[in-house]
Amino acid sequence: MCDILKMTHQRTIALDLDSVLADVMLIWLEEYNFKFNTTIKKHDLSQWHLHNILPLPEKYIQDLFTQVWKNRWKDIPPTNNDLSIVTSLLQKAGFRISIITKRDRATMSFVAQWLDLHNICFNELIFIFDNASKTCYPFFLLVDDSPINAVEVLYPRRIVVFDQPWNKILVNYPRIRKLNELFYLI
Ligand SMILES: [Mg+2]
Repeated sequence: MCDILKMTHQRTIALDLDSVLADVMLIWLEEYNFKFNTTIKKHDLSQWHLHNILPLPEKYIQDLFTQVWKNRWKDIPPTNNDLSIVTSLLQKAGFRISIITKRDRATMSFVAQWLDLHNICFNELIFIFDNASKTCYPFFLLVDDSPINAVEVLYPRRIVVFDQPWNKILVNYPRIRKLNELFYLI
């Protein structure tokens, strides 16, 4: 790897989008509860594979997720109201920010608009449409809520788990509840 590329990788922090920046499951649950007349809360979602705890096929769960991004993206709150400041400060500290998100292609433009709406600072936005691992992309540290993505990140790269009810199983990883806690870890 050429030196300039290596230096770039060593300064790049990768951020997941769903449930790290965008608290999308709050709106997903609003839709789910409305459709099925239930009162499920986010803290009830204790497993990553929702089809194991909800009586729905995986495809339906994913389709509802896509519908939320297409139709209710403006309602999706950020995980905290300081994301613009935090991402700006990370860049000012010399880090590159790469947002890496796996998703249905139909949601791309809404994601871009959501990031603009919340003034989130980043250097690149990577959409993954297939089963490629996030570890295929350059970063030295990844913030993610997915237990599957977390275990794929191997030393010397670092994983920081973004605390969510569905990743409590990950007990041996650094964990943050808000993005600004990242400053204590870098
Ligand atoms: Mg996520």
